[in-house]
Amino acid sequence: MSILVVDDSKLTCKLIKHILGFEGIEDVITAESASEAFHLLNLNDLQGKALDVDLIILDIIMPDIDGIDACRIIKADGRYREVPIIMLTVLSDKEILRTAFSAGAIDYIVKPPDSIELMARTKSALKLKREIDKRTVREKELLEITQRLEEANKLLRELSSIDGLTGISNRRHFEIELENEWKRAARNYRPISVIMIDIDYFKQYNDVYGHLTGDKCLNQLAKVLQTVIMRPGDILARYGGEEFVAVLTETDINGARVVAERLRENVVSLKIPHGGSKVSNIVTISIGVAATIPDTDVLPQTLVETADKALYWAKRQGRNCVICG
Ligand code: GH3
Ligand code: MG
Ligand code: MG
Repeated sequence: MSILVVDDSKLTCKLIKHILGFEGIEDVITAESASEAFHLLNLNDLQGKALDVDLIILDIIMPDIDGIDACRIIKADGRYREVPIIMLTVLSDKEILRTAFSAGAIDYIVKPPDSIELMARTKSALKLKREIDKRTVREKELLEITQRLEEANKLLRELSSIDGLTGISNRRHFEIELENEWKRAARNYRPISVIMIDIDYFKQYNDVYGHLTGDKCLNQLAKVLQTVIMRPGDILARYGGEEFVAVLTETDINGARVVAERLRENVVSLKIPHGGSKVSNIVTISIGVAATIPDTDVLPQTLVETADKALYWAKRQGRNCVICG
């Protein structure tokens, strides 16, 4: 481990180097002023390479910049924040030592240094530095693991077909399934329907009851809609924020209208109070329905668009109703 000794007295530097060397610590660099130390530490180049140092022993009284100011300046550089600094002092003035500690020093040695005291304090400071280094490595590893986990979770969410809030299918899954069912219906010349559902005055619901209650409401609605859309092959998905979509296979417009009306009634029967709605005092939904016998040349998205237009008309008609496109 390497040590930087900063003292304007050449003799002190030599003495410390000698004592440390005697105990087997050979990697000792010396500087005769704070400026020379700053230069060695590369302080004026924040992006530059940091000096590989595990302990700094710093004289308090030096011409030019004194040890306490130097300590503060070194500690202000993030690269040396964890490097312990021991002050060298002829004084054991309490006030000066207090200032040194508040500048970031962890210990002090009285000058001229006694070899036993110097070694004891140096060894415990180096031990502390080793512990800090180990902790830093562990923290870095932990950070990397956390980042990797977050990335993996993100990927999983993207690959997942489930909407996190409501537990029903997400839009991505809906689009894949619609495409499959669309092709199957086209092959067999069978009808297929899309139902678009949008909660009435949901912005106001959030405004009145808060976003968390809004989320709970979305969850409740998803559950009740799911009790209606449960035939094999049918899909209910969360389409966007407060919009749901359903695909009904083997279902023409008449069948879809019946299902849509049942969805609307089931939501009404929940009787969730809605103080911000202009159409009712409970939560209601508006629904647009579209059905067709698909053609493989036509994109399934066109059926979604027709249902969406019908939904727009349901809103225009006063909400809490079903319109077939
Ligand atoms: P309209 O009857 O015309 O549909 O009115 P609206 O307020 O429901 O419609 P609009 O599209 O203007 O607002 C949708 C609101 O739904 C916006 C937002 O406050 C709320 N919302 C969207 N996604 C979420 C969500 O994930 N959680 C909650 N709590 N609210 C959401
Ligand atoms: Mg909406
Ligand atoms: Mg809405």
